Amino acid sequence: MARPKNLILAGGGHAHLLTLANLDRFIAAGHRVTVVQPSPYHYYSGMGPGLLGGTCSAAEIRFATKELVEKKGGTFLNDKVIKINAGEQTLNLASGATLSYDLLSLNTGSYVPDDLIKDKTAKNIFTVKPIETLLAARAYITKRIKAQKVTITVIGGGPAAVEVVGNLWRLVQMEGEFETHIKLCAGSKLLARFPEKVRQKVYASLNRRGVEIIEKGHVEAVYSDHFELKSGEQIASDIFILAPGVKPSRVALNSGLPTGPDGGFLVNRFLQSPQYPEIFGGGDCIHFTDHPLDKVGVYAVRQNPVLYHNLKAAFAGKPLQPFEDVGGYLLIFNLGDGTGVLHKWGITIAGKPVFALKEMIDRRFVRRFQGEGNTS
Ligand SMILES: Cc1cc2nc3c(=O)[nH]c(=O)nc-3n(C[C@H](O)[C@H](O)[C@H](O)COP(=O)(O)OP(=O)(O)OC[C@H]3O[C@@H](n4cnc5c(N)ncnc54)[C@H](O)[C@@H]3O)c2cc1C
Repeated sequence: MARPKNLILAGGGHAHLLTLANLDRFIAAGHRVTVVQPSPYHYYSGMGPGLLGGTCSAAEIRFATKELVEKKGGTFLNDKVIKINAGEQTLNLASGATLSYDLLSLNTGSYVPDDLIKDKTAKNIFTVKPIETLLAARAYITKRIKAQKVTITVIGGGPAAVEVVGNLWRLVQMEGEFETHIKLCAGSKLLARFPEKVRQKVYASLNRRGVEIIEKGHVEAVYSDHFELKSGEQIASDIFILAPGVKPSRVALNSGLPTGPDGGFLVNRFLQSPQYPEIFGGGDCIHFTDHPLDKVGVYAVRQNPVLYHNLKAAFAGKPLQPFEDVGGYLLIFNLGDGTGVLHKWGITIAGKPVFALKEMIDRRFVRRFQGEGNTS
């Protein structure tokens, strides 16, 4: 009888949701499946800012990965992949364990580099990833704004920073008992890569609510009581949330696997390493050979059927499917005041129905995959 083959999923992120939902099929085909993730839950990032603002709870936006994997007959390891030894088809975990694989799929996401943070032990500096950090930020901020007057600064000029600052405003409205000053330090220009109409709507909304938008250049350093701009100017603040952009997970780079210019795990059209065909990957951790993809969950979600198909096909020796980038995606910002801004096909719309649409799309998506094992 043939030896059962080992499939390892590193990270139960957004690109692995369909594979996770169908783990029992791999097991029925005689394979062993192990999922490694540093938390029993994976959080849906699109609703992370809502977690900060309080429009949703942790239970509403997370997938119970451990529970699902075990229900489907796989093995869940609450651990972290730190190195892949591709030549010998093994990987090392943070716990010290070594696992061997026949097929490996990487969905280890991205992280916020902490090089700006100069006081590494400070309790008042938060990053927007992992998403569950926003839960810790909410608890910390709530305590402070109930006790005294504070200034809170969000650092970053992209969509994540906009959504976080808007939802921070909401948190302050709901829970604050003293005056709170909110700053958004947005580099040289807020939403610089976005159409002028989108920028204007976001500016107008944040200005109306008293958020101070600082566009004096990039932040060089964040200390526990102030931050410093490239110009040398120092600006005081009591609490910080950092959303300066993300980098792909370092697992591939640290393992000496082929990577793209940003350090992301290099994959071909089949979401497969060109050098190590038994390794696949999706989501923020990859560098797509044809052209780099934006670090948005939309791509991770679109890669689900391709990764699921290709992992099955690789075991069965059948043809792989390519990932076709169909381009364009619906962009909706949750501004935290019950409104949203939408941009697609050159059209920009703002208002309450836009936020309602985002909520509907996000909640429907999460419920679909939560149904595959989340009973909490
Ligand atoms: C505040 C915020 C809001 C956003 N809103 C949107 C939005 O509305 N729409 C949108 O399209 N995109 C949005 N994004 C972008 C989106 O977060 C990412 O593109 C998306 O999370 C990528 O999914 P992923 O599964 O690749 O990575 P992640 O969501 O980062 O998931 C990676 C998973 O791997 C696990 N993991 C990490 N390292 C290891 C390791 N070494 N070993 C094992 N497991 C590991 C993690 O625990 C996690 O479960 C937002 C981002 C932020 C920060």
